[in-house]
Amino acid sequence: MSEISPAGKVITLPGNVAPAGDNSFAAGVLENLPVAVYNCDANGFITFYNHAAVKLWGRTPQIGKDLWCGSWKIYNPDGSPMPLDNCPMAKTLTTGIAVEGEEILVERPDGSTRYVLPHPVPIYAGEKLIGATNTLIDITEHKADETRQAVLAAIIESSDDAIVSKTLDGIITSWNRGAERLFGYNEAEVIGKHISILIPHDRLQEEAVIIEKVRNSEKVDHFETIRLNSKGAEIPISLTVSPIKNKKGLIIGGSKIARDISKQKQAETDLQRYADNLETLNSVGRLISAELDIQNILQKVTDATTQLTGAAFGAFFHNLTDEKGESYMLYTLSGAPREAFEKFGMPRNTQIFHQTFSGAGIVRVDDITKDPRYGHNHPHKGMPEGHLPVVSYLAVPVMSKSGAVLGGLFFGHPQPGKFTIEHEKLISAVATHASVALDNAKLYEEITLLNSKKDDFIGMASHELKTPVTSIQGYLQIVERSLANDDKNKLFVTKARNQVGKLAALIADLLDVSKIQTGKLPFSYSKFNAEALIAEVVEMMRNSQHTHQIRLEQELSTLVINADQQRLEQVIINLVSNAIKYSPDAKEIIVRADATSTSLHVSVQDFGIGIDKSQQERVFTRFYRVENLAAHMSGLGIGLYISHEIVNRHNGKIWLESSPGAGSTFHFQIPINHQTA
Ligand code: ADP
Repeated sequence: MSEISPAGKVITLPGNVAPAGDNSFAAGVLENLPVAVYNCDANGFITFYNHAAVKLWGRTPQIGKDLWCGSWKIYNPDGSPMPLDNCPMAKTLTTGIAVEGEEILVERPDGSTRYVLPHPVPIYAGEKLIGATNTLIDITEHKADETRQAVLAAIIESSDDAIVSKTLDGIITSWNRGAERLFGYNEAEVIGKHISILIPHDRLQEEAVIIEKVRNSEKVDHFETIRLNSKGAEIPISLTVSPIKNKKGLIIGGSKIARDISKQKQAETDLQRYADNLETLNSVGRLISAELDIQNILQKVTDATTQLTGAAFGAFFHNLTDEKGESYMLYTLSGAPREAFEKFGMPRNTQIFHQTFSGAGIVRVDDITKDPRYGHNHPHKGMPEGHLPVVSYLAVPVMSKSGAVLGGLFFGHPQPGKFTIEHEKLISAVATHASVALDNAKLYEEITLLNSKKDDFIGMASHELKTPVTSIQGYLQIVERSLANDDKNKLFVTKARNQVGKLAALIADLLDVSKIQTGKLPFSYSKFNAEALIAEVVEMMRNSQHTHQIRLEQELSTLVINADQQRLEQVIINLVSNAIKYSPDAKEIIVRADATSTSLHVSVQDFGIGIDKSQQERVFTRFYRVENLAAHMSGLGIGLYISHEIVNRHNGKIWLESSPGAGSTFHFQIPINHQTA
């Protein structure tokens, strides 16, 4: 019987017994072991090997002829060549001692490599070393597993994300450095603790839902939530939780990856704030550009900017300085009653205000009471007693296009540090809008003033002209009547009277325009026969010119209407005169009149130059004349304006159909029984 030392380090054979391999039973067992085993003599020549050894070597050695190391090339585990006498088997044969735990890398004849853990044990016959037996364990797969594990562990450790594993009961079982960074606990502090230490109280039910999903082998993907760090501060995170299975496929816990999304959340909030600011800017822009009243513009700007900055109150002060450069006039106020300022008088040209009113730039101070410019002037040395408390201070000059400082927007808040650079930018953007709107409003004010001066002038001039022209007309009439028919001067006097008549009509029209402007165009309603009036006007127009034939198509019999007869006549004359004037190459004008039980409808058609669609609406406005076409035809552009007013005052309507080159038809319609107010 051979003896194996308890530690399996030496085999000692009794007497002259041959080494294992000669023993047929033991050889049978060894040959079929799944572990590679071989023996060699003291010189290293192989004396025995089993099937598993052949498989591992990748070759069949010759007994007694091949050395133990003849089957492969041997390397250190890191791939560097291993001197042969460093190899465990060589060491055992030279030292007579078993070698354990020294891993080698081998290359087989076909070039493939394996990691092997040899365990050579010396064989002694009595005191004499007669050989060694070696067990070779193939650890290649095991090593690959180890490497994979190491790589995974390294990935987990170096991840920026917090990676945590927990049992199905929520007990933390692993905790990487990312988790340490994100939550502020180190590994030792949390392993074995319940995951709920990270969950805000009002979100505890989330954990139950997550665990339930994990139990059902479901994944929780990118769930955005809030968790707590070791100091109790809330951190927005995106959470992914996956079930962890053991080798048998049983779910034993969950792995949780938490990503800090505070920056993303902050970016989203910033983006939203920028979008809101832009929207506010746009709407303020829209609001004030639609406004032409200076006071309204300033109020809207003050309200909007006070809201934008979150100021306790905001004000716009107009840049009005007296000779001493002392006073600024309050225009608008938001967030506080006007009286809150009025009792203190206007702010003065102190160092702080001066920067704004001189247009030197924006002033933003977190705590104005600590500013060196604050509180040097008599009598208050700062804020007068009872003044709205101002600590945070922001002032933005409002400059006109020309560079003049129109005024300043001022904001205050009783707490420090309320205004930011973002507020500065927003308010200066609004201030730019505001200055354009203020410039426009000023221009509009000037234009309105000039316009009303012009109206006053037209009214006055036509009034002044009316009396002399009427008396000239009267005298000419007397002279005309006094001259005999064969007097050669009579023709000239008649012509002069006709021209003065035209002048008088023009003056009357101008006077009408000015009366319409002041709302004083007089109307005198009476009942009369419209059919007769239309016939008379047509007859008169036929006699006053010889270029056009005026056809009358009346479908009316006697039609009594309640209207201002003279004004109605004026409308028809205007329309027929225009029809004649604007159809120089045509011969015919058609006047039509018809009525329903409630209204009278009259139209005047010509076959002249017509009016383009784009201009049709505007011909009824004051002083408007169609560009180019009417340029060579004289006129003031007031006939249709007056007609429009007259028809409107009768509660009727006036319109036209026209196409360039084909002619125009002007219509008007008025109620038969117009109720006078
Ligand atoms: P005026 O004839 O003195 O210019 P109106 O107020 O009567 O002023 O007419 C305004 C403008 O409308 C005219 O200048 C002309 O361009 C256009 N218009 C008016 N009537 C006609 C018409 N029958 N055909 C073409 N254009 C017309």
